[in-house]
Amino acid sequence: MNNDIQNQFRDLCKNIGWKCTPQRLAVYAYLQQNHTHPSVDVVWDAVRCSQPTISRESVYRILNELSEHGIIGRVDHIDSARYDCRVGAHGHFICKSCREISDFDWPDGTQIPPELLARQVQHIEIRLVGVCPKCAAAHKQKRHPSEKPASERADTKIGAPCFYGDNPQEE
Ligand SMILES: [Zn+2]
Ligand SMILES: [Zn+2]
Repeated sequence: MNNDIQNQFRDLCKNIGWKCTPQRLAVYAYLQQNHTHPSVDVVWDAVRCSQPTISRESVYRILNELSEHGIIGRVDHIDSARYDCRVGAHGHFICKSCREISDFDWPDGTQIPPELLARQVQHIEIRLVGVCPKCAAAHKQKRHPSEKPASERADTKIGAPCFYGDNPQEE
């Protein structure tokens, strides 16, 4: 494991008064090294290599502890929660076909109405839902020649920017 990540995690634990357990470290390190917005099951599968006795419940609890402390992000309101090494305002593009989530930078000049910021905002995100280039190419290959391309279909909806408070949701 990367020594920088280990040292970073040790400092974080000191700051928030946590015991630096190997299980917490394994979950944290996986998130820092995998920018794929993994689900709890993906993280569990990965950390079991080094922590064979770790339960799914423990992984879920550690992920949520990390996100409650703002150390990792959590992408909610999709089929199941996904976790994010990147915190702070940024955008997500979600492919509705393969569920891949990619980050994009918060667009310059994007303003949040001050009356909304006054509502104890805890989570800021712009979420775009559509079809990723990989899936679009796969659909195109399968598509009947008379059918319209994905970009012209009405169901390729682009989600409106959403600003909402943290609303913990069972996975
Ligand atoms: Zn896709
Ligand atoms: Zn993200």
